[in-house]
Amino acid sequence: MQNYWGIDLGGTKIEGVILSAPSPDAVIIRKRIDTEAHLGYDHIMSQIVRLIDLLKAETDLQPDRIGFGTPGTFDPARQTMKNCNTTVLNGRPMKQDLARLLNVPVAVANDANCFALAESTMGIVPDVVPNFQSVFGVIMGTGVGGGVVVRGRDGVPFVLNGLQGIGGEWGHNILEENGYACYCGKRGCNEQVISGPALQRYYQQISGEERTMKEIMERYQEGNDLVASQTVNRMLEYFGRAVSVIINILDPDAIVLGGGVGNVDLLYTEGVERAKKYVFNSREINTRFLKPKLGDSAGVFGAALL
Ligand SMILES: [Zn+2]
Repeated sequence: MQNYWGIDLGGTKIEGVILSAPSPDAVIIRKRIDTEAHLGYDHIMSQIVRLIDLLKAETDLQPDRIGFGTPGTFDPARQTMKNCNTTVLNGRPMKQDLARLLNVPVAVANDANCFALAESTMGIVPDVVPNFQSVFGVIMGTGVGGGVVVRGRDGVPFVLNGLQGIGGEWGHNILEENGYACYCGKRGCNEQVISGPALQRYYQQISGEERTMKEIMERYQEGNDLVASQTVNRMLEYFGRAVSVIINILDPDAIVLGGGVGNVDLLYTEGVERAKKYVFNSREINTRFLKPKLGDSAGVFGAALL
C-alpha cells in the first residue's frame, strides 16, 4: 500500500509525517527535530536524513518517494533553491542532493504551496467546494505568500509551480507605489503592506506606539483609537485590491486565508466587499473565502501530498 511521506523543513524545526491516506486522521507517525540551520547546509541535509531514518526505524516502513515543503522556491531552470529565508539553502541543489542521499524520488514545493495543497485536498476546501477546479491558498502572517492548486484531468489536485517556480508568489506583487522597501529588492509588495509586521509598522509610524496586530484589532473594536481604525481600513482596502488580482487572473472557486492576519474575521466580510470594487465582474463575487482547518499541520501534510 502506498503511504505518503512528507517533510516540512523550517528554519528552527524539521518535521516529518507518514500518512496512510490523504486525511488528517491517517497519521501513522509524526516527528520533529531541530534544524540547527546555523551549522550550515550539509548539516541540514544530514538532519533530514536522520529524521527519515528515525521514521523508518519506528514504523518499519520504506518510502517510494518523499515530498518536501521548504521555506523558499525550487528554481526549475537552475535546479537550485532561491528566496529561502533559511539563507544557507539558497543556490543549493537541494532536490538532487536529497534524492541522492535518500535514494528515492523527491518532490519540493514552498510552504505556501504545501498549505494550499493540504487545505485543498484534506482541509477545509473539500468540505465546502468538493468539486473545485482551482483554489488559491494565501498566507498572511509574518510574511505573505500564496499557492495555486488545480484539479488535474485525473481528478487529483496538484500545485501549479510554474515555469520559474514562482507560480502563486502573490506576496511580491506590487501593491503600493513607493511603499516600504522589501527584501526582494522592490517597494510596496503585498508583504510590505498587509503582513502583520507591515501593519504594525504603519500603526507605529502614525501613533508613535508599538502594538501587536492583536492589540490593534482590539483597539479598533473598542472604537476610540483613530490610528487603529486607519490601520484596519488600510488592511481591508489593500486586501481588497490584492485579492482582486487573484480573482481577475485565476478566478478560483475558493481562496483559503492562512496565517495570523488571515484569521481576522473582518477580511471575510468587509475585506470581500472591498475586493468587489476592484474585481472585473463587480456585481457579485461567489468566490468562497475560507478559514483553514489544518492549522500548523498544513505544511507537513501538504509536503506528504506532493
Ligand atoms: Zn517583495
